Amino acid sequence: MREIRGLILDMDGVLWRGKEPLLDIQKFFDQIQELGLKVVLATNNATKSVDQYLEKLSRYGISLQPQQIVNSAMSAAYYLKRRFPHGGPVFVVGEQGLIDTLQEAGFYPAEENVLAVVAGLDRTLNYPKLSQASLLIRKGALFVGTNPDKTFPSPQGLTPGAGAVLAFLETGSGVKPVITGKPEPYLFELALERMCLEPSHVLTVGDRLDTDILGAQRTGCQTAAVLTGVSSLEEIQAWNPPVDLILENLVDLIPFLRNG
Ligand SMILES: [Mg+2]
Repeated sequence: MREIRGLILDMDGVLWRGKEPLLDIQKFFDQIQELGLKVVLATNNATKSVDQYLEKLSRYGISLQPQQIVNSAMSAAYYLKRRFPHGGPVFVVGEQGLIDTLQEAGFYPAEENVLAVVAGLDRTLNYPKLSQASLLIRKGALFVGTNPDKTFPSPQGLTPGAGAVLAFLETGSGVKPVITGKPEPYLFELALERMCLEPSHVLTVGDRLDTDILGAQRTGCQTAAVLTGVSSLEEIQAWNPPVDLILENLVDLIPFLRNG
């Protein structure tokens, strides 16, 4: 493995599972700082705002800068900004967090004559909204999806995720969305830009092969999979191209980073 100067960390299944921390998070961040490593936390969840994550982290005694957190709402804005540098009207199927993030990048919500339909998880979704989105895509609006996650964890169990919304719109419009979250490279590229680092010097840690690891490999980052989340040891060992590092828990990364 090459010299590591920065980390891209997934959160759920890596730092915590829901409300339950998976390690001494404060100690881990202290050690990362001691080692002089840059870090960005990257999640496909587009429904929570950066402030909500900063608040959650502060409960573990960690204070990060807002630019150290990226989600798939931001990667959607990042992608749109590349396509339409001056911003413009978009139709949003999503929650307030997505609307706010797009607006900060110059993309305001509109019902007609839009540049793009941007869709993600929307827990107040109804048929008129889905129909309107579908009609706009058929008229030629660019179809952008935040993240492909089929399910979303809730206290009651797994409920339909952003991927389910995208599947509905894809079936209704006959058009496949451009996905901007993991496993596509945009979210990773945004994280790399925030750290000013080349992918070869960055290690991505995640618990899901089909999003975290696949996306990191597509971007050219080094990869570490943890066994505290979705993917099992057998699945990780069978993954091709191979994952660079397999860790029982994120804490096991520290001795590895110390010894190079
Ligand atoms: Mg995860």
